[in-house]
Amino acid sequence: MFSISQENLQEILRQVRQAVYNHEQWHKNITRTIMCRLSCDQQDVAEDSHRCCLFGQWYYGDAPQELRDKVAFVAIETVHRNMHQIASRLLKTMAAGGVILPDDFDTFANALDNLRLQFNTIIRELEELLQNRDPLTGAENRVGMLTTLREMHSMVQRGMQRCCIVIADLDHFKHVNDTYGHQVGDRVLAATVHYLKKNLRPYDRVFRYGGEEFLIFLPNTDPQTGLMAIERMRLGLAEKVLVQGSAAPEFVTASFGMSGLDEGVTVEESIDRADKAMYGAKKAGRNCVRTWPLALED
Ligand code: GH3
Ligand code: MG
Ligand code: MG
Repeated sequence: MFSISQENLQEILRQVRQAVYNHEQWHKNITRTIMCRLSCDQQDVAEDSHRCCLFGQWYYGDAPQELRDKVAFVAIETVHRNMHQIASRLLKTMAAGGVILPDDFDTFANALDNLRLQFNTIIRELEELLQNRDPLTGAENRVGMLTTLREMHSMVQRGMQRCCIVIADLDHFKHVNDTYGHQVGDRVLAATVHYLKKNLRPYDRVFRYGGEEFLIFLPNTDPQTGLMAIERMRLGLAEKVLVQGSAAPEFVTASFGMSGLDEGVTVEESIDRADKAMYGAKKAGRNCVRTWPLALED
């Protein structure tokens, strides 16, 4: 989910809201059928009624692949199917001229409440993801950054994993703006984040830390692996990400500073260490990676 673009995420949220709306309409209709003792729609008593309703058609059909990996999306399946089975039982009882018992109706109402809880959960998660995005670049903004890092820090302190923090600062970015204009600069920022997110692991995180500075968080990563990953990112940017609009091909370069998310110091101190390492990379001539603690010559 962290690697999905802003527009894609907005479209996914729109689809989920539409699907949930369709389900509310279905519910309204069923209530009307039961209250007015109308003859029911055959698809609502079918074995696979959960696949026939508009929501079900979307869930089992067109729902985007990106959603299918989400636990909150998967969890809807059982609750939704269960709710339809209960509805189907009520409708069959009614069609056979029987009376719907209060307990059976309550079971149906509870199943609907459960389903609404699942719908709200996935909508809340997607809204949160969107709210925590920087619209220009699609990186995460700083809203949830410290919370995320502190959660991971507590795992590091319990010896559950090691993590790396990286500060990346684009080189001579003022020159890009001054030479080609602010809009080209904006596109370079977006292209940089796009490249990073595409080439890091799905659970790595890219936060916009400042104007042309990014904080890359690598969970479950020892320093050696982290250094290799960041060296790969550095090379990739310098070889593949072009400054659009420049006459001769000009590539984006960045200076990187890396530190462990160290157990003995605060998260802020680890960020500061990565920042100092990044300044070491600037001093060493830019377009390179330095790690904390800096070597004496840095
Ligand atoms: P260095 O290699 O030392 O990092 O040089 P630099 O030019 O990148 O650093 P400096 O801090 O002097 O300039 C950063 C520039 O980034 C200045 C600022 O206008 C630009 N910038 C910050 N945010 C944005 C943005 O959202 N869009 C654009 N186009 N430019 C931005
Ligand atoms: Mg800077
Ligand atoms: Mg810079």
